[in-house]
Amino acid sequence: MLERTFSIIKPDAVAAGLSGAILAEIDQAGFRFVAIKKESITKREAEGFYAIHSSKPFFSGLTDFMSSGPLYLMVLEKDNAIADLRKLMGATNPANAEEGTIRKKFARSLQENAIHGSDAPETAAFEIGYWF
Ligand code: UDP
Ligand code: MG
Repeated sequence: MLERTFSIIKPDAVAAGLSGAILAEIDQAGFRFVAIKKESITKREAEGFYAIHSSKPFFSGLTDFMSSGPLYLMVLEKDNAIADLRKLMGATNPANAEEGTIRKKFARSLQENAIHGSDAPETAAFEIGYWF
């Protein structure tokens, strides 16, 4: 089923000059770029976006990191986009990410892990609406 998902190239990857390589991976995997914008976001915006994690011990560090520099916000479309992007991204912790995934290739750490992707249709709808 043709589906849309939401993705972010996170500040670690943008700062390291990896945006082009990551965009190419997404493109080659067959996603259509419905919308894309480069922005610097505030800590408050990051807190709203990651509200589901507000009680987690990593929340403050995560929202500091996400507001630390420019990132790319994207709406992506393809058949099975949500699950397929998660597969392309790899596991949250790059130490556990499968060979060939974006996080395996480009992530620095559990926090600075290069890319975000929605995990379900409801979160994709919320996340797309939050930024676009
Ligand atoms: N994160 C972190 N420490 C953790 C777990 C997650 O810093 O112990 C960060 C990491 O950047 C991750 C984000 O919080 O991508 C959101 O966590 P989630 O469990 O939703 O992982 P994701 O869906 O991004 O794979
Ligand atoms: Mg998540």
